[in-house]
Parts: sequence; structure tokens; C-alpha cells
Amino acid sequence: MTSGIEPMGERRQLGYLQLCADRRFHRKTMEAFEQATGLLPEEYWLEARAGGAPVYADRTRAARIAYREGALHMGWAAHGDGCRGFHGASNPELRQKLARTIRARVQDFPGVHHYELFGEGGRVTVTDVHLSGVKMRSP
Ligand SMILES: [Zn+2]
Repeated sequence: MTSGIEPMGERRQLGYLQLCADRRFHRKTMEAFEQATGLLPEEYWLEARAGGAPVYADRTRAARIAYREGALHMGWAAHGDGCRGFHGASNPELRQKLARTIRARVQDFPGVHHYELFGEGGRVTVTDVHLSGVKMRSP
């Protein structure tokens, strides 16, 4: 079985990003995540679906793989201004859904950096979700 895993000792940082497939926001969300984490496109896994992080009811297989393979930066994204994944939901409602999702994912994947990414008005805001008392695992 072949894989893209770096040789042991490389210790490069890895990440994972879950976002909405929306054409207005997917690229901006990726760029905002790369800027916030310093990761290159080939250094993180990506999972996209209409609605973004809040439509996934549970930990996904891709997220579990990324975490197991050492992802230290996990991004959870959604956007406002009309999302096909949540027809009719307002921006505050979508933000609330995202915040609720992140609270769950932080429990699912302890010890790593979590980022909240929300797009609206043509731009994406990134929030580093700091949690007191959570011990970070080493890279
Ligand atoms: Zn959307």
C-alpha cells in the first residue's frame, strides 16, 4: 500500500479542514485556513459538503484519519449569505450552528488547535478556539 506519509523524523505540521462546497467561499476558506495555520495546501486534508461543518452529525472518517495521522490544526467552516445546506437560515443562526458543532468536535479531537472559520460579506473570518486546561499534543 502506498501513501503520502513523510519519512519518520520529518515532523511537518499537518491539518484538516471541513467546509461548505459553496463556490463563493470554498477557496477563501482554504486561504484563510492556510494563513492562520501556516500550512501549505498539501499539508492538510479537506472535506467539503453543502452546509460545511454543521451538516456532519458526527466525527467523519476523514477527520479521524487526519487526527490519527497527526493533524495538529483542525478547521471547521461554515458561511452565511445563503447556504444551500441550510435553506433559509440567517447568518446568526449559521454562526450558532457552527459554534455548537465546534464544541462537539473539540471533545472528539482533544489536544489539537481548533479553528472556527465563517464566511460572510465576501470574506472569511478565522477564530483560533482556545480552551483553557486542554493540553496540546506535541507535533
Ligand atoms: Zn454553504
